Amino acid sequence: MFKKILKEIKKYDSIVIARHIGVDPDAMASQVGLRDAILNTFPEKKVYAVGTGGAKFSFLGKLDHFDGDYSKTLLIVLDTPDRKRVDSADIDNFAYTIKIDHHPFMEKFCDLELVDDKASSACELVMRMIYDTKLEATKRVMEVLYLGLVSDTNRFMFNNSSYTTFDIVSKVIKDYNLDISSLYSPLYMRPLAEMRLFGYMSESMQVTDYGVGYIEVSDEVLKKYGVDVASSGNMINNFNYIEEVLVWLAITEDTKNGIFKINIRSRGPVINTIAEKYNGGGHKLASGARVTIKEDAYKLIDDLNEACRKYIEELGDINED
Ligand code: AMP
Repeated sequence: MFKKILKEIKKYDSIVIARHIGVDPDAMASQVGLRDAILNTFPEKKVYAVGTGGAKFSFLGKLDHFDGDYSKTLLIVLDTPDRKRVDSADIDNFAYTIKIDHHPFMEKFCDLELVDDKASSACELVMRMIYDTKLEATKRVMEVLYLGLVSDTNRFMFNNSSYTTFDIVSKVIKDYNLDISSLYSPLYMRPLAEMRLFGYMSESMQVTDYGVGYIEVSDEVLKKYGVDVASSGNMINNFNYIEEVLVWLAITEDTKNGIFKINIRSRGPVINTIAEKYNGGGHKLASGARVTIKEDAYKLIDDLNEACRKYIEELGDINED
């Protein structure tokens, strides 16, 4: 399949690489890494990595603006399972479209689709594509891809890390001579204000009967701590391994967009199918949702609580057998 994708890449002089809204390191690193590998291999091509960026991820590279001829341009969408989450690319206008994704399949919206939900990250898929084809990476391309992969696996701690992940990462480190410890600081550095917000979040977490830990972060709280609306979501992985908590979420008021942004994580119960009911989705154990009224966030908590109840009950049954 990667060879088939490269065949399409070879056909077009102009290529746009898009990914999902609500940029995160895996989405951005995969598009920047793929763009730069294509440019390194085919310097005469024009390749644009598009989408709304964030100063926070500028260490991964620069994004581009595309205003060329759509009818002669190939679109590659990375890390995005459904059409509505594609950032800054009007899919129907492109000459040909390709999707490369590692989320559970949601819908077909491109001409050619490679979906591997066993892959740890979109970056792992781009790494594989580089090894499986004549695309040539540079050391910097692999450093960027490595950072995206490390971020999406939460430093290889999530269950999306498999032997395949370690296999390719070990090859990349060896073949490109990566000095991994020197790469981490821009990914993990954070302002003290965010750590103080983390203190607030830990203090205010409420836990339901069956282990849903939920944290509400109002606009007033964001202002008090001097942080932006993404800060609470950036902290969500830090709440793993709390004995009393199986599923946890942050509900953050986003007054600019008139919504509540919700980041959800799980240590067992499947959450993406529940998130989908609340204008969300994602992976089985790491999802997001958006609601416009607070009551819907509370309904989501109830649904998650029920999923935890069932999960605990089923675990009990297994242990009794
Ligand atoms: P986050 O909590 O933002 O880190 O997102 C965790 C996962 O859920 C990622 O794979 C996101 O792409 C996905 N996700 C987040 N928000 C949404 C949403 N509103 N709809 C669908 N998927 C989402």
